[in-house]
Amino acid sequence: MMEKSEISPDSPIENLKGVSVKIIKPLAHLGIHSVKDLLLHLPFRYDDFSRIKYIGEIHPDETATIRGKIVSADQSRSWKKNMHIFQIVVADSTGSMKAIWYNQPFLARTLLPNKIVSLSGKINKDGIMQNPAHEIVTALGVATHTGRLVPVYRETSGITSRWLRYLIKNTLPVVDSLDEILPLPVLKQEGLPSLSVAVRYVHFPVNAQEADLAKKRFAFEELFLLQLLILQSRANMKQSHAPRVPFNLDFVKKFVTALPFLLTNAQRRAAWEIIQDMEKETPMNRLLEGDVGSGKTVVAAIAAFNAALQGYQCAFMAPTEILATQHFDTFIKLAGHSPFNISLLTGSGARLYDAELGKAYAITRAELAKKITNGTLHILIGTHALITGGFTFPNLALVILDEQHRFGVAQRAALLEKKKAEKVPHFLSMTATPIPRTLALALYGDLDVSLLNEMPKNRKKIETRIVKAHERKKEYAFISSQIKLGRQAFVICPRIEVAETATPRTIAQAEVKTVKEEYRKLSEEIFPDLRIAMLHGKMKPKEKEKVMSDFKNGETDILVSTSVVEVGVDISNASVMAIEGSERFGLAQLHQFRGRVGRAEHQSYCLLFTGSESAEENRRLSAMVKSSDGFALAEHDLKIRGPGDLLGGRQSGLPDLTMASLTDVALIKSARDAAAQILAKDPVLAKFPKLKKHLAQFNAKVHFE
Ligand code: ADP
Ligand code: MG
Repeated sequence: MMEKSEISPDSPIENLKGVSVKIIKPLAHLGIHSVKDLLLHLPFRYDDFSRIKYIGEIHPDETATIRGKIVSADQSRSWKKNMHIFQIVVADSTGSMKAIWYNQPFLARTLLPNKIVSLSGKINKDGIMQNPAHEIVTALGVATHTGRLVPVYRETSGITSRWLRYLIKNTLPVVDSLDEILPLPVLKQEGLPSLSVAVRYVHFPVNAQEADLAKKRFAFEELFLLQLLILQSRANMKQSHAPRVPFNLDFVKKFVTALPFLLTNAQRRAAWEIIQDMEKETPMNRLLEGDVGSGKTVVAAIAAFNAALQGYQCAFMAPTEILATQHFDTFIKLAGHSPFNISLLTGSGARLYDAELGKAYAITRAELAKKITNGTLHILIGTHALITGGFTFPNLALVILDEQHRFGVAQRAALLEKKKAEKVPHFLSMTATPIPRTLALALYGDLDVSLLNEMPKNRKKIETRIVKAHERKKEYAFISSQIKLGRQAFVICPRIEVAETATPRTIAQAEVKTVKEEYRKLSEEIFPDLRIAMLHGKMKPKEKEKVMSDFKNGETDILVSTSVVEVGVDISNASVMAIEGSERFGLAQLHQFRGRVGRAEHQSYCLLFTGSESAEENRRLSAMVKSSDGFALAEHDLKIRGPGDLLGGRQSGLPDLTMASLTDVALIKSARDAAAQILAKDPVLAKFPKLKKHLAQFNAKVHFE
């Protein structure tokens, strides 16, 4: 087995016996490079095979483990089904039972007559176990795959949980050399097991309590690290200064009066809170939270214009080019005759709206950089090209991030990165994702929240319907009738189901194929007389822009699209949002899609096409029909699918485990308290070198996923 003396936690994984060159890559795919990585590859669930029974006691439909002697073994082949069939009969003192495996001919080599075997699995109605987990029982051996809580791991092609269990078991003696990073007093105070104990518990729990305790430790550890980072950066923030931006009451009053609509009370309150924050010397860190269509953009514009008026600069970042372009157009319109120079910067180039000339035109990046540096540019709107541009703003007072949940922690951090001694800009992030306050605290630290909990008055409730296959024709006719009334429609193509090993490229290709096919079907077969366009992420930015502006100008009737239109897009004449394969999307995302319509006075409709018969999926879709409240829907999603989906999963930049524990308010609180206690005594963690080193690694991980 393992040569213990040679193997340490830091040993590369290929030093382990049994790890061949062939599987180094798949292991790396799982993030396993070293022995330590292997030991910290935590299971995401357990199969409960702990009920060990006599063969005479077992019932059909139950999951159990039995132990017995193999009395016969038989290998055969079904030509008709093109399958290998391997079956054995196992007996103990109370009876005998049959077990069958399909297409695993190699089992015949280990499961030999007269061996004692342990089998775990479900017993079918004929009293047979099909494809049970199995292992040969040896005199001394501890069960690995049967007869206990059996861990199930994230797998990849060529690496099964069974194989990982085997490898981990052989490596277990190394756990005692793992470095404990949590301070002992913290472990004691929280009643948590040490790292080595937790690693043993998590892979080889004797009972569910051990497994739970181990999971709690790992969850606590991540939350604790996260809180240390947040508290440290908050302490830094407190010491830095932002420019004071005075409130120009006259200007803001005039601006608000000139708007074509009345601000809601919630919008007024939010704008007021932001403006007050910006008058202070401590940097603002505020989240503007409001359901889709609640009117966040105009609130942002008030803050930006108030700053621009006094010669300050403002950067406004959006997650997609479409959205950045839309904000650019909106800001120009809202600015009216005010003297603000506004630029747009995306992957496809830069534009400048020159307030003196009253028009927008293309400029080079060099020209843009110059205008930023000499302070004549007031507002820069863009995609993340804005951070990578390396611009220096002499008077940057406000940074705004739209749809902030779409950005990684890294991008948020880069936006705010400050050079020493410089002033730090005020920070406003906006989202339609209703993040509960505890979660917001855990994720973004000491953050203030402004809530737009009120919709503009002119809105009608969007009628939402689930559409089954046989109702398709009727709904196509309905879409057609809406277009005759002068409205427009979106058709969203489903998210593609892909293998875990699929790369972003293959996923994108598959999605493009679906959109093209849907586009063909709609334009040739269903609506041959309507003007239909398509939109997907692989199109050139210029093409995308053209498609969007045509749609906005009413030159196309139906826009067939992937989820690129999901966030922010504002087309007030559109009244139908039809979503194909709707069961494949999360509720929060469906709600975002639905928010693309009903943004003005027209009665609007959301059609949820689905072929799914699953009761669970239909229940989710019914929630969409019943509720138009993004908050309620997000909570529903949170319960069913966990916070990963709510926050955009990987995009949040947090490890999976942390994501799972973000619903555990009590644990977040104790992690925060423990972190605060440590930092109060030792702000730079001088007495905890291991923790300090690990924190730096953790920081790199959450910042650069
Ligand atoms: P979101 O909060 O989803 O970002 P937007 O800022 O895009 O919403 O606003 C949605 C639409 O509502 C825009 O067309 C905007 O002009 C309009 N709008 C904003 N505030 C109001 C209001 N108080 N009354 C009427 N319409 C408004
Ligand atoms: Mg928006």
